[in-house]
Amino acid sequence: MKHIRVTRTFTRGIAEAEAFVYEKEELTAAKYQINGEAEISENIELFEKAVEAVSKDLSVLAEDSAIFAGHLSIANDIALKEMVIGKIKDEKQNVELAVENTIEELSAMMAGIDDAYMQERAVDIKDVGARFMAALQGKDFAGLDHIQKEVIIIADDLTPSDTSSMNFDYVKGFITERGGVTSHVSIIARSLGLPALVGAGTILDNVETGDQILFDAGSGDIYINPDQQTRDNLLAKSKADAELKAQIEAKMDLPATTEDGKTLKVYANVGSAEEIKQAMKYKIDGVGLFRTEFLFMDNTDFPSEDEQFNAYKDAVEALRGELIIRTLDIGGDKALPYFEFDVEENPFLGWRAVRMCLEKADIFKTQLKALLRAAVYGPIKIMIPMIISVNEVNQVRELVEECKTELAAADIEYADDVPVGIMIETPAAVMMADALAEVVDFFSIGTNDLTQYVLAVDRGNERIEHLYNSYNPAVLRAINQVIKAANNAGIEVGMCGEFASDANITEVLLGFGMDEYSMAASETPLIKEKIRNLNYAKAQELADKVLACSTTEEVYQLLGIEK
Ligand code: PEP
Ligand code: MG
Repeated sequence: MKHIRVTRTFTRGIAEAEAFVYEKEELTAAKYQINGEAEISENIELFEKAVEAVSKDLSVLAEDSAIFAGHLSIANDIALKEMVIGKIKDEKQNVELAVENTIEELSAMMAGIDDAYMQERAVDIKDVGARFMAALQGKDFAGLDHIQKEVIIIADDLTPSDTSSMNFDYVKGFITERGGVTSHVSIIARSLGLPALVGAGTILDNVETGDQILFDAGSGDIYINPDQQTRDNLLAKSKADAELKAQIEAKMDLPATTEDGKTLKVYANVGSAEEIKQAMKYKIDGVGLFRTEFLFMDNTDFPSEDEQFNAYKDAVEALRGELIIRTLDIGGDKALPYFEFDVEENPFLGWRAVRMCLEKADIFKTQLKALLRAAVYGPIKIMIPMIISVNEVNQVRELVEECKTELAAADIEYADDVPVGIMIETPAAVMMADALAEVVDFFSIGTNDLTQYVLAVDRGNERIEHLYNSYNPAVLRAINQVIKAANNAGIEVGMCGEFASDANITEVLLGFGMDEYSMAASETPLIKEKIRNLNYAKAQELADKVLACSTTEEVYQLLGIEK
């Protein structure tokens, strides 16, 4: 038996089956030049036919997948088409070569951007390129559809097209060498509820097709050809987990009301209207964080007011519940392909989010107007990220008023009463929470950033990963201070950082007085069930004890967490 452990895990569940090591056949272009007008037209026509065929396949897949909707827009992207046709016409490249070179250039451009999300988009472009190449060569798009027995897929990486062709009656899980939290394999695995490990370094060197694989996606443990004892232990755990999950999901419809009658909101975090549609199957009460940066990142230019209006309107109509939309949170680790940010020494402390929006008021106002207009169609709330002062809130409010005046003057319909709230992600916002609570309609605590700023620990730096911990009493006291300020001012306070989905802290947050928890939709049934088994009065006692702790270890001990 071999044992490998992956440290960063993004899904849960235990899977066992034979390994299927997936090596992709790469289709390459025929390399020759073409001559004369007739050949040029013929090659352009072949390209157009390929776009048509690929779009047809992708349209079907796009019906219930945001990822493939993205692929469909790449396949029809005007810039991509112009590049291919330019290479055929001006450089006399045959259609296959023109497509191959265009895909190479576009994906290299994306991969060169210093941002994990953008680098993942390079994978999308290559995936669409592989579809074009298969269509041009008259081949079936190679996938994993021929698998006819239970397997665990082991691969270097998996593209959305790879996963789309999998038959999930047979594929019990996957392990890839590459990928991180924002990679598609993680997103797809989470939305399917399938055990998966990504970023599993050397797995391909250790596994061959036919090996027996047993892995625990939650703990990151992979056993290759496991012994009987290991199998018995893990499979017993798996059975118990599956039974519990089924029991919990059967109660998804029930509200998150504590034993002593306090009802809390359990919301989802999403990045698109499409994701809301998928989240609805978990019977979510609303959306606590709609990250609008994806709408900006997946674009070739800043999205227009109408484009944004349509996206937000679609989102609120799909949800039929409260929708908290966060304004553009760009900069720091998040780049835009069409906007050059100056290189900064400390981008996380730099020109980002609301700082950029207040300076680039035209970009910000376009978004605010789209939000005010979309709010006519449902209960939208506007949320501003990275606030550090009352001044910033006042400036935002002034711009909101300006937007309303301009919309009214243009005779465009908008909602007048849209609540404006802020994310609490900075120590400054914590210290000023009482004053901020007087000027905003709600708070949402962003623990992903708050933890890094309170502790001065970069959230993406693996070297100091052990110091990045929201259970640190400094972070817990900050969270409590914010919640108390909101409670005193009578405004709602939620949490949309990852910490909200940690069932070990749910009771403490309830005890602090938090009103709303927002997290990946698939986690909501578990947190709701957890809340239903809690008692608010008891939670307050526990919260007081937690606030008296002076070390993280004491907090763990108090909460019975083994680390
Ligand atoms: C946060 O900082 O907790 C948060 C939700 O925002 P993001 O992870 O997008 O920075
Ligand atoms: Mg943040």
